Amino acid sequence: HAKERGKNHYQVYETSLRTKRDERLRIEKRLRKATENQQFQLYYQPQVDLKENKVVGFEALLRWNDEKLGDVSPGVFIPIAEDSGLIFPIGDWVLEQACYQAKQWYDKGFSTRMGINISPKQFQRPDFVGKVKNIIEKTGVNPSLLDLEITENDLLYNRDECFKTLKRLKDIGIQISIDDFGTGYSSLSYLRRFPIDTLKIDQSFIREVIENTNDQAIVTSIIQLAHNMNMRVIAEGVETAEMVMFLNERNCDEMQGFLYSKALPADNVMDFVNEKEPTAVLHS
Ligand code: C2E
Ligand code: MG
Ligand code: MG
Ligand code: MG
Repeated sequence: HAKERGKNHYQVYETSLRTKRDERLRIEKRLRKATENQQFQLYYQPQVDLKENKVVGFEALLRWNDEKLGDVSPGVFIPIAEDSGLIFPIGDWVLEQACYQAKQWYDKGFSTRMGINISPKQFQRPDFVGKVKNIIEKTGVNPSLLDLEITENDLLYNRDECFKTLKRLKDIGIQISIDDFGTGYSSLSYLRRFPIDTLKIDQSFIREVIENTNDQAIVTSIIQLAHNMNMRVIAEGVETAEMVMFLNERNCDEMQGFLYSKALPADNVMDFVNEKEPTAVLHS
């Protein structure tokens, strides 16, 4: 009996593996098509300064609605894009689109920081900085508005190359954030060495921060660490007013989350910001 059950179990396992692989291949095929036809959209999630209570930046988040697959979340298709190499054309598109948008808003008098997610493969590419420079030139965006989000894991390999890349980006005037801070595999020692402007506290530490004293300790420590090293700190995944109070008491600089707004299509951003926050960074 046990043997039979074991066999069945194995079959189920094998079938589900095959289904998973087929599903992945199917998504990859559609993704290739979407990449060729540029069937993506960028949405923008506001980042709010906690002291001033105003929008100071946006994070560009990629959206894909496929006619056959429907909405596919970046959590699903970004890893497939990375494995298949599609992340290079997709990443280029994201960079250019986000820069155009920042420039357009700037020209309308709305001077706002633009956070752009950079995948490890993109970042480690030898011509990455050259690519960024070209896009800045092409779009005419002010590089000081750009805030590239990389993860701790990006900094694990080839530290010298990594340092050079970051240094070159900083020299252009670009800001650097560490995304999902606290969840990666690297040691804290890189913070000493690398020119980093902002730590983004991963949402997994914020989710239960009101109930969980361990999360409270972690979040409080990350805020202190950032400030002691002259970095800014943003909390991700802020969903309740209690969380805002907690973060405010601990002097967290900025927050981002569904409480304030989810990511919005570009066309809705100006209206939203004007309605919800009249003191948004307007320059004359
Ligand atoms: P991330 O960069 O950490 O982005 C934050 C994610 O948290 C976004 O999910 C956002 O919609 C979600 N989020 C924001 N506020 C809240 C909240 O209050 N509660 C909850 N539960 N979630 C919140 P999204 O858009 O599904 O993106 C998932 C991940 O996919 C991103 O995580 C990022 O790693 C990746 N990604 C998205 N767009 C791009 C892109 O253009 N390029 C690259 N390389 N990766 C991207
Ligand atoms: Mg991000
Ligand atoms: Mg994050
Ligand atoms: Mg993430």
